[in-house]
Amino acid sequence: MRIFDLIYIDGRLAIDLNNINNDLELMAYTGVPEYVPMSGSAPIVGTVQLSDEQFSKIVAEYKNGGECAWCGEIASELRKPHIYDRAPNGGRMCRSCWDHDREMYKGAYGDDIGPFSGEEAKSQ
Ligand SMILES: [Zn+2]
Repeated sequence: MRIFDLIYIDGRLAIDLNNINNDLELMAYTGVPEYVPMSGSAPIVGTVQLSDEQFSKIVAEYKNGGECAWCGEIASELRKPHIYDRAPNGGRMCRSCWDHDREMYKGAYGDDIGPFSGEEAKSQ
């Protein structure tokens, strides 16, 4: 079991994962993997107990998730874009953008780019 602070930041509750990245942002889990600017003044409203399994799942979301290069939403999983749509800076795509594109290309080209969780997603 690991114990973390539950903090109130930007009007939301987040688990302070007690880890800071190179840009001095705090890993603050809000249900999706987010980083927030370091703020010594974020009030602590409680404590959260995570099992090793729960903690590993969150860490995996930080590795595989992040900000979608298309919609800018923070997602718990991202993947490389499909062949019809390349991000200029090698950005990755969230499930909702993928599903939207999948429908669009099915209709426009009659070509199915496949499900979000395809082989390529697993190799990420
Ligand atoms: Zn997206």
